[in-house]
Amino acid sequence: MKILQEYTLNELKAEMDARTVKRFRAEQIFSFAANYTPIEDMSNLPKELREELAKEFTATPVTIYKEFISKDGTIKFLFKLADDNIVEGVLMKYKYGNTICISTQVGCRMGCVFCASGIDGKLRDLSAGEMMGEVLAVNKYLGGGLKEDRKITNIVLMGSGEPLDNYDNVVKFIKLISSNEGINISQRNISLSTCGIAPKIRKLADEDLGITLTISLHATTDENRRKIMNIASAYSLADLIESIQYYYKKTKRRIVFEYILSRGNVSKDDARRIASLTKGVMTHINMIPINRTPTSPLVPANKEKVTEFFEGLKSAGISATTRRTLGADIDGACGQLRRRVLKEETENQ
Ligand code: SAH
Repeated sequence: MKILQEYTLNELKAEMDARTVKRFRAEQIFSFAANYTPIEDMSNLPKELREELAKEFTATPVTIYKEFISKDGTIKFLFKLADDNIVEGVLMKYKYGNTICISTQVGCRMGCVFCASGIDGKLRDLSAGEMMGEVLAVNKYLGGGLKEDRKITNIVLMGSGEPLDNYDNVVKFIKLISSNEGINISQRNISLSTCGIAPKIRKLADEDLGITLTISLHATTDENRRKIMNIASAYSLADLIESIQYYYKKTKRRIVFEYILSRGNVSKDDARRIASLTKGVMTHINMIPINRTPTSPLVPANKEKVTEFFEGLKSAGISATTRRTLGADIDGACGQLRRRVLKEETENQ
């Protein structure tokens, strides 16, 4: 099935022209699809047209399969894809708006030791239309529409999967979701998080997007990074930093570094090394308390050490904050919820 949300308005008009559907109909279909209306409910369209469309297209590439609401208001979604695969998304409510964290792949092949998404490897990439579906389904779930009725304000590509390992689809998604023809979420409100595929960071720099690049740093020496992230064996810190400097020069956008707080990566030397690694790049450090996963060997750092580390960063002039842990009671961390539900379902069969 072709996914309607994967077309720009002009592309959809061309598709419809080829089927001798009138232009104004293409505009109606486009707007229904941006509102995540199933084809059978596109009430302004003649029934025959709806039936014709439904043979070839879908307007609901993902459906909300389950939702889990945390005490703090965070909602974790399991989305079902057309082939019955399941991916996760998380809705976080802030004073300034609603942020949706979406998945870019079913599983992940990066194999970071602390992350639940990679435990079973990657099953497949998500298409741009499926990523559109995650955002639009939740916008609709919140009772939102387009323009002033839009309920989703921010997107983070931080769910399951490595966005830069699904490069073309992710870039296509960013362009579609930020287009002013549709739901129109500003690129300034989109963050892409990567474990650090250096050549793809350079490529992304050349796309001329206004998004925020977020780097999962997690260690300050190659030796330590290689122990916890396979990608560090492919690209050294020197190579990664060079690609980040290139990204920064091209985009002038502040770079955010994610840094899990584990025993072993929060020394004063780590703080010093972060300062030297990020020299010349406007930087913010997002310190993340570890979410324990069944296979992770990492142990959370103790409070005093974290304070010392934070002071070290501060005295080096680096802005840093600790990420609030939202949705801890609903398995908020990457890949954990999907794994738990799939396991329960298999056990119950
Ligand atoms: N593949 C991308 C995006 C998905 S992970 C990336 O690596 O950046 C989003 C963030 O959550 C990353 O910074 C990742 O390192 C972090 N993360 C994964 N598992 C975690 C865990 N158990 N505890 C804390 N952070 C985790």
